[in-house]
Amino acid sequence: MTSIIIAGAGVGGLYLAWILERKGYDVTVIEKNSRDQISYDWHDDVERNTFVEADIPIDNLDYHLKQDWSFLMFGSKNVTRISIPDDLKDLSIHRRSLAKILLSQCLNTKFLFSHLIQKPIIKDSCVIGVTTNNGNFFADLVIDNCGYNSPLRSQLPDEALIKQDYSEEDVFYVYRAFWERKNDLERAFHTNKAYLRHMGRKGISWAIDKNSEVDILIGSIEGISDKEIDEALIDLKNDNPIIGEKTISEGKYVIPVSSPIRKMIWNGYVLLGDSAFMTIPMLGSGIHSSLRCGKILSETIVKCECNFQQENLWDYQVRCYKDFLYQHFAVDIMKRWLLKAKLTDISFISDKGLVNAEEMALVASGKPFELSFCSMIKKARQGFSNPGLLISLLNTLNNGKRAMKIANRIPSVYSEKDFLKWENKLNTIFMN
Ligand SMILES: Cc1cc2nc3c(=O)[nH]c(=O)nc-3n(C[C@H](O)[C@H](O)[C@H](O)COP(=O)(O)OP(=O)(O)OC[C@H]3O[C@@H](n4cnc5c(N)ncnc54)[C@H](O)[C@@H]3O)c2cc1C
Repeated sequence: MTSIIIAGAGVGGLYLAWILERKGYDVTVIEKNSRDQISYDWHDDVERNTFVEADIPIDNLDYHLKQDWSFLMFGSKNVTRISIPDDLKDLSIHRRSLAKILLSQCLNTKFLFSHLIQKPIIKDSCVIGVTTNNGNFFADLVIDNCGYNSPLRSQLPDEALIKQDYSEEDVFYVYRAFWERKNDLERAFHTNKAYLRHMGRKGISWAIDKNSEVDILIGSIEGISDKEIDEALIDLKNDNPIIGEKTISEGKYVIPVSSPIRKMIWNGYVLLGDSAFMTIPMLGSGIHSSLRCGKILSETIVKCECNFQQENLWDYQVRCYKDFLYQHFAVDIMKRWLLKAKLTDISFISDKGLVNAEEMALVASGKPFELSFCSMIKKARQGFSNPGLLISLLNTLNNGKRAMKIANRIPSVYSEKDFLKWENKLNTIFMN
C-alpha cells in the first residue's frame, strides 16, 4: 500500500487526507498541536463556492455571510465601500469548526498529534520521511502542509531548487485580537473597515464590528513592535468608538503574501498551502487555494502510480498554476507597488478616484485586471496633474499582466533547464 505523510494538519492537509484515504492510500497526518488546539478559534472569510467545489458537507459548520468591506487610504478622507449583493457574498466561517468537520470525515487516517516535525529525511536525492521529536517516520511521499515557516522546506538541499526562505515583502506580520464591544453603541454603516497603509506603515489594519466583539488586525510587512501596535490601536479606537476597553483574545501571526513559490515539488516531496502560495488578506484566498490545490494534488498522486519523482509530480504544479495560481502574480505586483508608493500618491489615488471600488475588488480578488481604452482616457483625465504616478500605475498593471502570462506558460513537462529558464523570466519582472 502506498504510504503518504501529510506534515501539518492545516485545512489543505486535512482535506487531502480525507480524499486520499478514500482512494485507498495509507495516510498519516503529523501535527505539532494537540487535537483540540488545531486551527484558530475565530471566523475567516472564504469564497462562497469553496465547500461546494470541494464537496465538503457544511451542515454543521458555524458560518455567516461575509460583511461588505470599506477601504480607507492613508491621508485621504474618502471611504470606498464594496457592496456585494447577499446572493453573491462570500462566507465567514469558524476555523476550528471547519477543522473539526474535516477531522471527523477522516476515518482511516492515522493522526499523530503533539509531534513536532524537525527536518526531512533525505536519501539518494529523494525525501523519504520526516524526523520529529518523537522519532522518525517514513513514507513514499511527504506532503508539506506546515505553513509559511516549514522546517521541511527550509532544510531541503540546494539541488531541490526550492526557495527555502521568504524574502522581505513576502510575509505579513500581524497582530490579531478580539476586543470587547461597547454594546450601547449602534452598528455603524461601515462594519468592516480596512485601512490601507495605516499610520503610514507598509501594511494594513482593520476593525470589524462583529456585534458582540470587535475583530482587530494590525499588520505590516516590516514587522510590528508593541509600541506600534499601541499607537495603531489608539488610532483605530478614535475612528471606531465601538471598540471597548478589554481584549477577549490576542496574538501575533505571520501570513505569506508573496506570489506562489516557483517550484512546489521535488522527488518524494510536495508543498501544499501556505508553505507554497500566498494568502490575499481581506479576500481570504488561503483556505480556498489550499482546498483547490489539495484536490488537484490528489489527482496527480493517483496518476503517479507510486512513482513520486519530480517529473511525475510536476503535473500538480502545472495544473495549480494554470488553474488559478497564475493570477496571484498580478496581485503580488500590485501589492508591492502599493507598499512602495509615496504616501502622497496613495491619498491622490483615493481622492481623485483613480482606482474605483470595482477595480479595487478585482485587484483584491486576483482576477485578471485590464483597462479598456475608455477607462484609460478617463484615468488620464483624473490623474493629469500627476502624470508620473499615472504612468507608474499603468506600468504596474501592465507588469502584472505580463507576469500572469509568463506564469501561465509554465513548461508542461519538467526538465531542469526549462524550469530555470521559465523561473528566470518570471523573476525578472519582479526586478523592474
Ligand atoms: C491572522 C490570519 C488571518 C487569516 N485570514 C484568512 C481568511 O480570512 N481567509 C483565508 O482563506 N485564509 C486566512 N488566513 C490564512 C489561512 O489560515 C491559511 O491560508 C490556510 O489555513 C491554509 O493553510 P495551510 O493549509 O497551509 O495550513 P495552516 O493552516 O498554515 O496549518 C499548518 C499546520 O501545520 C502545523 N505545523 C507547522 N509547523 C509544524 C511542525 N514543525 N510540526 C508539525 N506540525 C506543524 C501547524 O500547527 C498547523 O496546524 C489567515 C491567516 C492568519 C494567520
